[in-house]
Amino acid sequence: MTNALAVVGAGAAGCGVAYALRDTAFDVTIFEKSRGVGGRATTRRRNGCYYDHGANYLKPTDDRTGTLLSTLGTDGLVDIEAPVWTYDKRGQIRRGDREEAHKWSYQTGLTQFAKRVLRQTDATVEKGVEIARLEWTDDGDWAGWRLFDGADTAVGRFDRVVLTPPAPQTAGILRRSQWIDSRRRELTEAIDAVPYRTIRSVMLHYPFKLDLPYYALVNVDRDHPIGWLSREECKPGHVPDGESLLVVQMSPEWSEEHADLSTARAGRRVAQLASTLLDDSRVADPDWVDTQGWRYALPDARVDDATVRSAEDEGLYFAGDWVVGEGRVHAAFWNGVAVGERVTVAHE
Ligand SMILES: Cc1cc2nc3c(=O)[nH]c(=O)nc-3n(C[C@H](O)[C@H](O)[C@H](O)COP(=O)(O)OP(=O)(O)OC[C@H]3O[C@@H](n4cnc5c(N)ncnc54)[C@H](O)[C@@H]3O)c2cc1C
Repeated sequence: MTNALAVVGAGAAGCGVAYALRDTAFDVTIFEKSRGVGGRATTRRRNGCYYDHGANYLKPTDDRTGTLLSTLGTDGLVDIEAPVWTYDKRGQIRRGDREEAHKWSYQTGLTQFAKRVLRQTDATVEKGVEIARLEWTDDGDWAGWRLFDGADTAVGRFDRVVLTPPAPQTAGILRRSQWIDSRRRELTEAIDAVPYRTIRSVMLHYPFKLDLPYYALVNVDRDHPIGWLSREECKPGHVPDGESLLVVQMSPEWSEEHADLSTARAGRRVAQLASTLLDDSRVADPDWVDTQGWRYALPDARVDDATVRSAEDEGLYFAGDWVVGEGRVHAAFWNGVAVGERVTVAHE
């Protein structure tokens, strides 16, 4: 038996799979459609600033993530010390009353998490390769999965495959796949049914420092067009001294309604809303803006566990935040680890 395993997606879950399979007999190849790793926990760099435009930080609720972060190296690891405050639909800001846990990023951004995890593995990462479909093949000598890219070119043959894109994208891969088995339809339908929230992140930069007592504001009644507003300058190393960079995550309703707005127009609208919320007219006039639409930002449910495991005997596995039903980097990562561990157990 050979041990070729493909992971589709180099986000937290895909990195977790590779991490669990380090130092095993498995030969792991990760296919990632974008040019970088980290998925929704990723970082951009512009004009001397680093900013986490998807997940803001790692806020583990368990000891094992803390231990993992130490193993990955604490150089450049930063804890965001300033608190998170709240506001309601009227824009009434209140001091947060929750006990603050650690909120971790890295000086050069949260994407470091995926990079450091992958450095501990000997997985091959094929960036810029979007997997369009799978094909189950059994030619008598070998049975397994062939993977095809968007041009329908075969990119390899694998004994096992782990799919980690957000549920609707994973369902799309299954729908296009060739696998004559009733589980293909059952899996596609169950996975496609996982609902996701859409979030448009808008970044606003200022050539001066905003003097505020909090790192971030979160809308607690979910009835304000801004869902979350945070200050990248509270993460050491992210923003040059004397500057400010706001990451404003818009509500799902606003994000869907304004999905097609250009960066410049979205920047103007969001800057105006942020200026009102912070009661600071200077905020309406950023010197540069950036934006990212996360169509599948956060899962609102999880897929049925028995269904999602039903094809493991054929070497087909699934991992990700939608498998655990929690839109958190550490939850996706540990789900990937658990799947990787099941792969090794099945192999023994
Ligand atoms: C705006 C926002 C804010 C958030 N804030 C936080 C936070 O503060 N803290 C926190 O813990 N979590 C936060 N989250 C949630 C967290 O980012 C996710 O739950 C977690 O990163 C999901 O990891 P994943 O590996 O399951 O999926 P992803 O990170 O989406 O990884 C899937 C990967 O698959 C790739 N891919 C997709 N289709 C294909 C294909 N066909 N072929 C090849 N590759 C493909 C994608 O490019 C991606 O890299 C936030 C998310 C968003 C969007």
